[in-house]
Amino acid sequence: MESCPSLSHYTVGVTRQNISNRVLQEINTHSAEETIAFGRTLAGLLVPPKLVLFRGDLGAGKTTLVKGIAAAFVAAAEEDVTSPTFTLVHEYRGPNATLYHIDLYRIDTTRELETLALDDLRSENSILLIEWGEKFPWLTAERDVEISFERTGETGRTIRVSA
Ligand code: ADP
Ligand code: MG
Repeated sequence: MESCPSLSHYTVGVTRQNISNRVLQEINTHSAEETIAFGRTLAGLLVPPKLVLFRGDLGAGKTTLVKGIAAAFVAAAEEDVTSPTFTLVHEYRGPNATLYHIDLYRIDTTRELETLALDDLRSENSILLIEWGEKFPWLTAERDVEISFERTGETGRTIRVSA
């Protein structure tokens, strides 16, 4: 049977559309500033409501990308976006969306996750930007967009946006 190029990006056997894996955008950045600039371009894609998972090692650039996204939504200045590693959830309100920047690095159990009540943050107007969300399968299943980071050197990063 001939392969169908237009379907080849989809994960075989996955029935839920929002866990398909079509790469929408891919970019190589060479500095934090370039990653922030790329984040600024993503506001058009991230129309609320959205649940976005960020995948990548510590220091890969996940929080750096959120700086650009928050700035584009006029929800926070770049320098005001910091890692929610300890506070777990940061809220940034813009005129067209409320962004919730969430870091689950320190969250290990479903019970701990429940205390964050992430479902209560989801609304017509909200965008959840979640680092380390892949630790919990239901979040992977619920995500609308995934942004993955790969190091390609000291300051090189390949960033892929999938939906
Ligand atoms: P994460 O949230 O994935 O743990 P951060 O965004 O907090 O990572 O940190 C990324 C670090 O890497 C920052 O110190 C940033 O200045 C640095 N960096 C170097 N090159 C890049 C790049 N191309 N993109 C993003 N960050 C970069
Ligand atoms: Mg981070």
